[in-house]
Amino acid sequence: MQTSYELRTYSNYIGGKWVDTKGGTIEGKNPATGELVTKSAKSTPEDVAFAIDEARKAFDSGTWSSKRPSDRARILREISELIRRDIDNLTVLLTLENGKPLADAKGELLNAANVLEYYSSAARHIVGKVPRYSGTDISLVVHEPVGVCGLIVPWNSPISLLSWKLGPALAAGCTVVIKPSSHTSGITMELMKLVSTVQGIPPGVVNAVTGPGESVGMELVRSLKVDKVSFTGSTETGRKIMEQASVNLKKINLECGGKSANVVFDDANMEAALRGSVWSIFRSAGQSCNAGSRLLVQETVYGPFMRSFLQAAAAIKVGNGMDPATEMGPIISEGQMKRVLGYVQSGADEGAHLSLGGRRLVDGDYGKGFFVQPTVFEEVERGMKIFKEEIFGPVLSVLPFRDEDDAIAIANDTSFGLAGDIWSKSLTRIMKVAQGTRTGTVWVNRHLNPGPEVPFGGYKQSGLGRETGMEGLMEFLQTKHISLQLSESADRVRR
Ligand code: NAD
Repeated sequence: MQTSYELRTYSNYIGGKWVDTKGGTIEGKNPATGELVTKSAKSTPEDVAFAIDEARKAFDSGTWSSKRPSDRARILREISELIRRDIDNLTVLLTLENGKPLADAKGELLNAANVLEYYSSAARHIVGKVPRYSGTDISLVVHEPVGVCGLIVPWNSPISLLSWKLGPALAAGCTVVIKPSSHTSGITMELMKLVSTVQGIPPGVVNAVTGPGESVGMELVRSLKVDKVSFTGSTETGRKIMEQASVNLKKINLECGGKSANVVFDDANMEAALRGSVWSIFRSAGQSCNAGSRLLVQETVYGPFMRSFLQAAAAIKVGNGMDPATEMGPIISEGQMKRVLGYVQSGADEGAHLSLGGRRLVDGDYGKGFFVQPTVFEEVERGMKIFKEEIFGPVLSVLPFRDEDDAIAIANDTSFGLAGDIWSKSLTRIMKVAQGTRTGTVWVNRHLNPGPEVPFGGYKQSGLGRETGMEGLMEFLQTKHISLQLSESADRVRR
């Protein structure tokens, strides 16, 4: 296993150039070892203003929005191909900064390449309509790019979640200023290096500035020159963004937190349900917005299912993501680890039964990083914090349910509404629960979307708007109606 790495340092990418900041640096550290991996710019308000101005100039000049769709498509395809070409280098850096296992990091990068490729095709399918065509009276409905967009991205899947925004923004003809999480700024700027080599992107179309969310991110949200902010992150930050974006009634997209229910019926293929349920919560150490963090098991199979589940969860290999045998990596930071362990404590204090895990791993090399055991609570009550709040760690709450109505009631008893899983062979049961749960996505006998063609987003406090699919592209487009009166008769004009 590779153990030492050269520290990489990044500037901001603004107006097609690498621009140093006077604001100092932020550090990207390997959460498995505490080692310093990257240094990026701690941007000042002036840096952000400069990036916004460059994006504004590029948009207002029309050099990007008036390009032929086929040119925008080629550029998106090239970025996607460059990710595939450099996949090994990118995979290592993503694992080092984020901690996820190499196989998951590679999967994420391939997903991003696939998303950009999808939006490369979509760029050529932006179509309007003609809802009135009556003699000389013709109405055209056309779509135009929203304008300058701030793209604010979290650390948990930094490149695939960026591709969900960058792909449709560029396909639509928008210009962008990207603001990654401080934990994963290096991998984002590494992607910018690839973008900077693509021929035909006018300067200022893609800009990226790094630094803290409260300053750098908020500058983007408050700027009168930014037309839209597309944000992925916590519901708490999403709420602040919604308030501050009102300054110029910016368009906003919010992809926020979740507390998804994973519903296992007694007629399910038990092996598939078991694998899917374990993966759904412990993939990325539970640091996924769509983690199935509430497992609902039908009472008729509760005992045997949970015995197998606990065995499978206990066998997960937790370790450094750079070790190919690792199945679950560390928590992103010490602060987040303490938060997760605080939830474990609250579950115990409120009377839930700790059936597995619950502790930080500290022996040997574990002690250098932020590792938490796969953790399972049973006998969870619906009023408990571990049932209600997003933990964003490897902590599962399990509850039995009687029937479809009971499952729907428990699943809906949350302020979130991002996604959910159903495991059953009965179409009647599946449709009843799928229609009854208030979430943006329902996965049946699978976990995660099959590809970028379908939309993703939240009901309730999980967000606003949709990403991926053509719905995700429409979020970066405005709709304009052009009403034509071709008759030369003055009688046609209303007085
Ligand atoms: P976060 O809200 O702390 O930060 C997300 C991004 O917003 C970061 O780039 C951060 O620097 C920036 N930011 C923070 N405060 C800001 C402010 N006041 N103004 C502007 N920008 C600000 O979230 P996180 O800890 O990075 O990510 C975890 C959260 O993301 C979880 O709640 C998870 O559910 C959510 N998430 C949602 C989805 C989805 O698609 N719905 C996907 C992945 C993650």
